[in-house]
Amino acid sequence: MTNSILETGIRLVRNVDRYNFGWASIRELSGHLEKRRIISREKAADSRVVFFIDQFFQGRDSIIANGGIKPDDCVIFVPTSEEPTTKMIDQLTGNLRDFGCESPCAVVGIGGGITLDTAKAVSNLLTNGGLASDYQGWDLVKVPGIYKIGIPTISGTGAEATRTCVMTNPVSGLKLGMNSDYTVFDQIILDPELTGTVPRNQYFYTGMDAYIHCFESLSGSYRNAIGDAFSRETMNLCRQVFNEGDMMSAINRERLMVASYLGGCAIASSYVGLVHPFSAGLSVVLGTHHCIGNCIAIRAMDEFYPHACTEFWRMAELQKIEVPSGLCNNLSDQQYMDLYNATVIHQKPLTNALGEDFKKVLTVDKVIEMFKKM
Ligand code: NAD
Ligand code: ZN
Repeated sequence: MTNSILETGIRLVRNVDRYNFGWASIRELSGHLEKRRIISREKAADSRVVFFIDQFFQGRDSIIANGGIKPDDCVIFVPTSEEPTTKMIDQLTGNLRDFGCESPCAVVGIGGGITLDTAKAVSNLLTNGGLASDYQGWDLVKVPGIYKIGIPTISGTGAEATRTCVMTNPVSGLKLGMNSDYTVFDQIILDPELTGTVPRNQYFYTGMDAYIHCFESLSGSYRNAIGDAFSRETMNLCRQVFNEGDMMSAINRERLMVASYLGGCAIASSYVGLVHPFSAGLSVVLGTHHCIGNCIAIRAMDEFYPHACTEFWRMAELQKIEVPSGLCNNLSDQQYMDLYNATVIHQKPLTNALGEDFKKVLTVDKVIEMFKKM
């Protein structure tokens, strides 16, 4: 293929090195960690482990019991009211350094995308030094991070599989991850048992991230045969999950966990389209979280993705899920302009969806009109 505006520069795709899959597979964690601890002890290095755990699990014994946490380990419960910022990642990394825990034998993330991304980012920063914002971009991470294990407790974003960890820089307003092979987890554990407690709305919003990403990719002009195959199977699985009576049955939680992982693999060699840039606009200007933001953005996507939107609303109705509306009514002129700017900055996915002249379609008036439908 010749170089095009959509060329990622990625010639070699790195996937997660190893994974466990299956019910109660979180029990494998302590064994994986024990191996790391032994290697570290033999080298007279630090054999402690840093755990980042979604705050939902604070006080719930099952994770603690199955995780092989030792008294000397460092356990940090990650709040999820806000998505990660570079400042928050710098603070967490600084705290670990102050605590003398800058070279643990492993970093473990147990939670949703926020927690997994936090674990990835801190692991990279501990070995690379500097600030999180230094590494926002592509292939800026210089050396491997601390050995890291990811354990998703909610399915959809694919954060367990990807080579990025999304962070917002509060100073520049830039929402961008550390896109690097070094960001990929060394090991993941996919245990569908862990998703049983996710609230239904959240389960739908996050699960739909996989579905949305894949229909955006499959409708785009930058195509890749392997990315397409991952995307198609992700969509098949999502349809099975959300078109059935109970999207959270055991079999459907298993399917969605696989869909999330495959969707994450698809991201490595594909682009999103219109939904994600609009969702990013909501996120940057109004602080809307990623997955619910995608679902809200679907309200304005009929003309671009008619089939997928119809299917989305049918699944939402079947599962009795409320998608908020009216978010962008009565904003100030400045806020509408900010929304426009925060959306059209995503040149590559918009080009993927509409071609290089995407701004001829997405004029200021058009973009504002679309936001008003949300
Ligand atoms: P999240 O981390 O935002 O969590 C959503 C909510 O679910 C939180 O309230 C959390 O406490 C709760 N939760 C998680 N697991 C639970 C469980 N088992 N039981 C009960 N509650 C549970 O989840 P998300 O939607 O997976 O992640 C969104 C984040 O992922 C955003 O920050 C987004 O930017 C990021 N993201 C990253 C990538 C990537 O490739 N790295 C891709 C897409 C999105
Ligand atoms: Zn997404």
